[in-house]
Amino acid sequence: MPDWFRRPAPAVAPEGAFTKCTTCGAILYTKDFERDFKVCIKCGHHHRLTADERIAITADEGSFVEFGRRELRSEDFLQFPGYVDKLVAGEDGDDPRTDGLVTGVATLSGQPCVLAISDFEWGRLAGTMGSVFGEKFARAADRALDEKSALITFCASGGARMQEGLTSLMQMAKTSLSVAQLDRAKVPYIVVLTNPSTGGAVASYASLGDVIYAEPGATVGLSGERVAAQAQSVKPPANYRTAEFMQEHGQLDKIIARKDLTTTLAKTLAFLGS
Ligand SMILES: [Zn+2]
Repeated sequence: MPDWFRRPAPAVAPEGAFTKCTTCGAILYTKDFERDFKVCIKCGHHHRLTADERIAITADEGSFVEFGRRELRSEDFLQFPGYVDKLVAGEDGDDPRTDGLVTGVATLSGQPCVLAISDFEWGRLAGTMGSVFGEKFARAADRALDEKSALITFCASGGARMQEGLTSLMQMAKTSLSVAQLDRAKVPYIVVLTNPSTGGAVASYASLGDVIYAEPGATVGLSGERVAAQAQSVKPPANYRTAEFMQEHGQLDKIIARKDLTTTLAKTLAFLGS
């Protein structure tokens, strides 16, 4: 019997020890991947974070205090096929939230702020803006007004929530009005566009920041290629729905790597606060 046949079987890696990058296919140590804020060390792809992960890397440790976690719940008033199932799925688990926008107060390098973070995964609803999302955003803005502290939103959204039809489109006006109130009161409003930020979100609250940042490679834009081509009668450039294209064309201020984002936000707060 050859020697190699007697060798012990290789140790099996514990489940979850490795993570495969969905963009380049690199196999990454999960621990390293998480230490790198879920950014692929090989290709730089910024993988999506949950709202809780975003809070963990943004707010000063232990400073985040959520509000509105379970106060409001969406209704399936159009009896849209499958909507109830998604709402139920969103509320799976212990102490679940009742919508995909997470709101709370926190500090960043000691500076108070209000956070409104869309959770793309909640209810498999792609961070879409329905009536509860819009109301929670408005309440977050009201809180920022009351406390005269900046509102920071992290957008990860497919846009308006089609399951709520016209009501979801109305949230574009509602959230825009909230931002206008912040503007009038000179309360800073900062937007961070993450992958993806599209549709009604970028057509309203996510395009109205005093400062607009984006993560590298994020899909940012109103509509897909087919609709854009129909609207403009020309074929849009290949990369037109990227943060990089938007920055090049003056639609956002700066693309910031995730590892530098918290420091940049803290500096921005200090600057705007002064
Ligand atoms: Zn990669």
